Amino acid sequence: MTKPELLAPAGNFEKLQAALIYGADAVYFGGKNFSLRAFGDNFTRDEILQAVDFTHERSKKIYAAVNIFAHNADLDALANYLKFLDSAGVDAVLVSDLGVLNLVKETNLKFHISTQANVTNWRAAKFFHDLGASRIVLARELTREEILDIKQNCAAELEIFVHGAMCISYSGRCWLSKFLTGRDANQGACTHSCRWKYNLVEEMRAGEFFPVGEDERGSYVMNSKDLCLLPYLDKVIQSGVASLKIEGRMKSVNYVAGVVKVYRAAIDSYFNGNFSVRSEWLDELNKIAHRPYTTGFFLSDGKPTEIYSTSKPSRASDFLGIIRAFDAKTMTATIEQRGKFEVNQRVEFFQPTGKTFSQIITSMRGEDGTEIFSAPHAQQIVKIPVVEPVEIWSIMKRNN
Ligand code: SF4
Repeated sequence: MTKPELLAPAGNFEKLQAALIYGADAVYFGGKNFSLRAFGDNFTRDEILQAVDFTHERSKKIYAAVNIFAHNADLDALANYLKFLDSAGVDAVLVSDLGVLNLVKETNLKFHISTQANVTNWRAAKFFHDLGASRIVLARELTREEILDIKQNCAAELEIFVHGAMCISYSGRCWLSKFLTGRDANQGACTHSCRWKYNLVEEMRAGEFFPVGEDERGSYVMNSKDLCLLPYLDKVIQSGVASLKIEGRMKSVNYVAGVVKVYRAAIDSYFNGNFSVRSEWLDELNKIAHRPYTTGFFLSDGKPTEIYSTSKPSRASDFLGIIRAFDAKTMTATIEQRGKFEVNQRVEFFQPTGKTFSQIITSMRGEDGTEIFSAPHAQQIVKIPVVEPVEIWSIMKRNN
């Protein structure tokens, strides 16, 4: 059995670097236009060239999401962008709109069918394969049996989501956000309206909110849990899919690093013949901001996939910084700050390949060598003594 690719989200260049350094085989990103994350950082053309180089230098793959539902006015700029992606050397583009697919066919680009196209059966998969798609990203709304059936009847590579946020609609084909706010999920501008707290208002009594009956905590009838197939990764791999995808181009470097490292270790352990769900993997996934986990549709076990109590993700650790340098002589780590930390706090170092370790911060210096006692500023450069050698790109966290 071929080892499936571990595919990670790259919301910006730093997240792309983290994904690859922490063990992803491939990354997917969006340009400034035409991908479905209008409010993500996304990549300029120069950044795309840089990202392709960084990825290919490591013999890994890079895919561009061009999965917008295009309107006529988009077509000229799209054609130009696709030509650019072709010349930049991306390994494939992800498309869902047939017009975009038609434009892609005027280039030499390989293309994958995005989950946004909602492929839920083998005939649809085969149809897209016959059109030239090398890979189909299946809709998230499929059971394991359905995935197996599609695999048996379609020769295209299959990709499935294994981790991350879910939509309450069919993989994002949704009008809710557009209807309530004017921001269209199909143009990459979703406001996540499905996660809001809803009440009932009688039209003559403005300002009086009547709870819609879930329970006393409110009503989040459309608020999906987050997908996590880690405990069933053996079954996922045995289904023969070519790529295991992590959702989350809008999420932090901390999320990307943590989720990628855990799934990397789990996939490798399966192919080393010693897969069992390790508690340290689950602990790590629980430290990252997330809603309660679900297996979604994969097991078809009928367990609820929505959370009715709150739409806020829980987080068991705070992301404090990224290690940018390490001096082995003085055992000093240079950290770029991402969250406030202080002397005397216990912190943890989560490393790309090494073991996680924790220690108390005994002292701190600023970039100019001055002694400081706290680091309150975003991206402040801070030096601290460490008790063990620490890898560059390690994440410093504080457990709550
Ligand atoms: S509103 Fe919710 S269901 Fe609709 S596209 Fe956005 S996240 Fe998905």
